[in-house]
Amino acid sequence: MKKIANYINGKLQAPTSGEYIDNYNPATGEIYSLIPDSDQTDVNLAIQSARAAFPKWSTLRNSERAEWLEKISNGIKARLEELALAESIDNGKPLWLAQSVDIPRAVDNFKFYATAIMHYASESHHTAEGVINYTLRKPVGIAACISPWNLPLYLFTWKIAPALAAGNTVVAKPSEITPMTAYLLSEICEEIKLPAGVLNIVHGLGSSTGNSIISSDEIDLVSFTGGTATGAHIAKIVAPKFKKMSLELGGKNPNIIFNDCDFDKALKTSINSSFANQGQICLCGSRILVQRGIYEKFRDAFVAKVKEMKVGDPMDPTSRLGAIVSKPHYDKILSYIEIAKSEGGQILTGGEAVKLDGENKNGWFISPTVIEGLDQQCRTNQEEIFGPVVTIQPFDTEEEAIELSNSTEYGLAATVWTSNLHTAHRVGDQLKTGIVWVNCWLLRDLRTPFGGMKNSGVGREGGWEALNFFTEPKNICIKF
Ligand code: NAD
Repeated sequence: MKKIANYINGKLQAPTSGEYIDNYNPATGEIYSLIPDSDQTDVNLAIQSARAAFPKWSTLRNSERAEWLEKISNGIKARLEELALAESIDNGKPLWLAQSVDIPRAVDNFKFYATAIMHYASESHHTAEGVINYTLRKPVGIAACISPWNLPLYLFTWKIAPALAAGNTVVAKPSEITPMTAYLLSEICEEIKLPAGVLNIVHGLGSSTGNSIISSDEIDLVSFTGGTATGAHIAKIVAPKFKKMSLELGGKNPNIIFNDCDFDKALKTSINSSFANQGQICLCGSRILVQRGIYEKFRDAFVAKVKEMKVGDPMDPTSRLGAIVSKPHYDKILSYIEIAKSEGGQILTGGEAVKLDGENKNGWFISPTVIEGLDQQCRTNQEEIFGPVVTIQPFDTEEEAIELSNSTEYGLAATVWTSNLHTAHRVGDQLKTGIVWVNCWLLRDLRTPFGGMKNSGVGREGGWEALNFFTEPKNICIKF
């Protein structure tokens, strides 16, 4: 059975303890590889190697670091098919999705920051005659980068690329549920001979390996994407040490559909924004709010389309939904469907596990589920389910749509469908979310600030925001 290796000090290596964790293929329910169960010794080795690599890496010219990032980007591109297949097997997502979204985005993340760092400039201020202030932005040190399982290589590289571009060295941990593409990334870094210690990838459980990384006094900042409860735990450890921290956390995103929307476009995109990646994208809309005038028409058309969606083998190009990432997550989603029923929700379609044949007979599949008849305050509409489950409810006025949208503890993203520019601007302005899409969804420009408000996180990724986060500004005031 394939044994994944850690990547420390430029070398692929086994965990010092020799202990491994099982890695499952969610589409078959079978163990297909082994993940290092790294302990404090491995974490210490990774941190020491990042520390040793820092002085040289941080003082390279931006153009030299950009070249290394370009090489990584090209290395991923050259192995795109292999990486997409690995991502699909590890995560359960359809292969076509990994080929068209996940891996191309990982290529772009490195390419984007290779070019961004070449254009990154710091400020200077002419204060008075003979007085000038200028800002030095220097790399912070060792960046701890911790990522989740839903978009494994995509989100892992979204942190690592700007951290490295800005001149930090990195100790990174992918999710123990989807470690394979991070391992393949370390093979690529070894192949291109990335200087030893610049990037270190340590595999293992969040509660042990991850916790050891973020608790270390030797790391200088933490960039974390994952659940809100984990984010709160990390903040408790990291905040009293006054280290920089970026937390990208959970969501409960509204998808607001006004009477005057372009109906067909709203319908088509809402199917996607509800169920892409089995609903396991932090930006998926899980609460569909439809204005009363088109509520029944939209609901019926939406449900009819959802019924046509095929749940199937991730390798089958006709599967719209693949497998749920893990057995615990599958159980969690099914338990939320039971909660919704007990809260009085009516299941309009789906609401159950899907049993497939052959190789997939023990895989974890759930049908896309639409629930009606729940009020805003129930658990189903308040808590993050992170699966192929959406609720649908009517609203009458713009004010009501805004109130419903803002009445959860989360504030990551929202989608608005209207043909009235005034409505779009007014609603966009009042939604308490870090991201608002109008008449589109997941249309990404990597230069834009990315992140959430309230319990969806602290800080922003993307563009200059990330480069600002991964550098320490120092103002120098000169009188001459
Ligand atoms: P998680 O919080 O369980 O795990 C995320 C990562 O943190 C994993 O690598 C895990 O091993 C690690 N971890 C767990 N405990 C840790 C600890 N004590 N110390 C250090 N690291 C620890 O989240 P998940 O289940 O992997 O991911 C799903 C969640 O991620 C959802 O809530 C989703 O909304 C969120 N998410 C948010 C965004 C965003 O950009 N806001 C993007 C994707 C996913």
